[in-house]
Amino acid sequence: MSFHVRPEISGLTPYSPGLSIDEIRERFGLASVIKLASNENPLGTPPLAQEAVRRHAGDAFRYPQSGNPRLVRAIARHHHVDERRVVVGNGSDEIIDLLIRMLAQPGRNNIVCFDPCFSIYPIQSRICGVEVRRVPVEADFSLNLGKLAALADENTVLAFVTSPDNPSGYVTPAQELRALAAALPAGALLAVDEAYMDFTEDEQAASLLAAGDDLPNVLFLRTFSKSFGLAGIRLGYGILPAALADYYWRARLPFSVNVLAEEAGLAALADTDFRAETLRVVREGRAALTEGFRGLGCTVHPSGANFIMLEPPAGKAAADIFEGLLRRGIIIRPLKSYGLPHMLRVSIGTPEENAMLLRACAELMA
Ligand SMILES: *Cc1c(COP(=O)(O)O)cnc(C)c1O
Repeated sequence: MSFHVRPEISGLTPYSPGLSIDEIRERFGLASVIKLASNENPLGTPPLAQEAVRRHAGDAFRYPQSGNPRLVRAIARHHHVDERRVVVGNGSDEIIDLLIRMLAQPGRNNIVCFDPCFSIYPIQSRICGVEVRRVPVEADFSLNLGKLAALADENTVLAFVTSPDNPSGYVTPAQELRALAAALPAGALLAVDEAYMDFTEDEQAASLLAAGDDLPNVLFLRTFSKSFGLAGIRLGYGILPAALADYYWRARLPFSVNVLAEEAGLAALADTDFRAETLRVVREGRAALTEGFRGLGCTVHPSGANFIMLEPPAGKAAADIFEGLLRRGIIIRPLKSYGLPHMLRVSIGTPEENAMLLRACAELMA
């Protein structure tokens, strides 16, 4: 080869995304395909955000305003926090990546997380040459935060906890997060990824952010990709200790949140009807799917998110259910890449999509 690739890159197992609708439509010659694989919003893009993107299409030749101040102010208002704590990124993926690069020195520092967990944390750490320490989740998919704290040492810079968790949907009580923050060694920050937090039944009881806690070693990650219906726009945000937010703005590529993403984000925050309807449809759909899959003999894990994780009845392989659904034009998420080949993850869809899914599964699991 005429070039050299760092060993961290040549040996990398990349992020494994959900399959796309076009891919499956072509492969199986289907007229219509439904996708319940990537935890996108079942109601689509908020109407006010669609309008904003159309209205601002003519501004696309301009660079965005440095630091996206209008969006930052709107997010700060939404969460009742000081705007100096708010950062935005090209998806929360960008914020996760940049935090690792800002905080961890390769060969010296480490990050700690659970196994399985959202794979961006270990993948971006490995790309940076940063050690990843992992502790298995419990057999019932709850998280033992004491075990995570025990992995951390004076070289730990970040401890990642996802709540509700991906892929299980498990919600960690806020009180346990407070205890973890107190138990971490000096220099280690607790990163609570709250990508799905607004889908829980009781956000106040589950979220330190919603409860108004402002601990010096805790940061929060949120996203416009799920309840705000903007996954394809790529917009995420973080609520960080103010001094860390200041460093973030210095280290970030200047214009990673583009003009249309900023306008779409502002409009999505304003579209409170769409958001309320999203939360209602997801909570009702989650209850219906949980009951429906249990009725088919599946083990369904309790979820506070806009997806559920399930294990098919004995004698039915998860891979066969996944393939059978694909042939019927329904894409769900196999969890092999999470190390859970016997499990499936299903995003909550519209009532019609949920019913189609259950009908197809009733055939496949009979
Ligand atoms: C979907 C998801 C995100 C959001 O990622 P974006 O880059 O904002 O689209 C973050 N964390 C977890 C655990 C997720 O599942």
